[in-house]
Amino acid sequence: MKFFIASKNKHKIAEFVRILKPMNIDVISEADLDTPLSEVEETGVTFAENAFLKAQMAMKETGLPSIADDSGLCVDYLDGAPGIYSARFAGEPTDNKKNNEKLLTLLKDVPFENRGAHFCSSIVCVFPNNDKITAEGKCFGKIATEYIGNNGFGYDPLFISSLGSFGEITDEQKDSISHRGVALKEFAEKLSVYLKEV
Ligand code: IMP
Repeated sequence: MKFFIASKNKHKIAEFVRILKPMNIDVISEADLDTPLSEVEETGVTFAENAFLKAQMAMKETGLPSIADDSGLCVDYLDGAPGIYSARFAGEPTDNKKNNEKLLTLLKDVPFENRGAHFCSSIVCVFPNNDKITAEGKCFGKIATEYIGNNGFGYDPLFISSLGSFGEITDEQKDSISHRGVALKEFAEKLSVYLKEV
C-alpha cells in the first residue's frame, strides 16, 4: 500500500521510512510529486491540530492516505515554549542554529536540575474516505548547557535523553526512545488493526 508523507524534512521522512518499512508500506513524499503541494497554514494550537491540517491538505491534493506529523520541544523552565513554534523559535525562515542559540541564551543561568524538557510528536493519517488515525509520543530529558554531538537535526545536540544527547546517539537508539519513534510505534499498531478491518 502506498502512503504519502507530508513533510519536507528529509530527516523526518527518513525516520518515517525506517519505521514503516517493516510493515511493507511504500512511502512517497513531496519530492516524488510533479507539482508541489499548497502551503498549509499551521493555525492549530496543538501539535495534533497542526498535524491534522497538514495530513488533510496532502490527502486532498494527492488522493493518497497521507501522514503528517507536527512536533517540537517543550521546555519546563519556559512554560512549555517553544512548543508548536519550535521551528520558528528565533524567527522565520527556520534557522536551527539560531533556535539553539536562543535556547541556550534563555537557559544561561538555569541549573541542570531545572532544565527539564520533552519532545512531543503528534502523527495523523487521513485516508481518502476521511477515516483518521492519530498517535502521540513524548520523550523526556534535559537541555544541555553546550552542544553535544553532530548527529540528527534541530535541537538534537542540546537534548539529553536517557541514552545520551540526541546529537551523539545512533539513529537506531534515537528511534527506540524518541517522541517520533514512540508515536510511530503506536501509529503502526493502530494502522495494522485498521488495515485488517477495511
Ligand atoms: P515541524 O516540522 O513543524 O514539526 O517542526 C518541528 C520543529 O521542532 C523542528 O524544526 C525542530 O526544530 C524541532 N524538532 C522536532 N522533532 C525534533 C527532533 O527529533 N530533533 C530535534 N528537533 C526536533
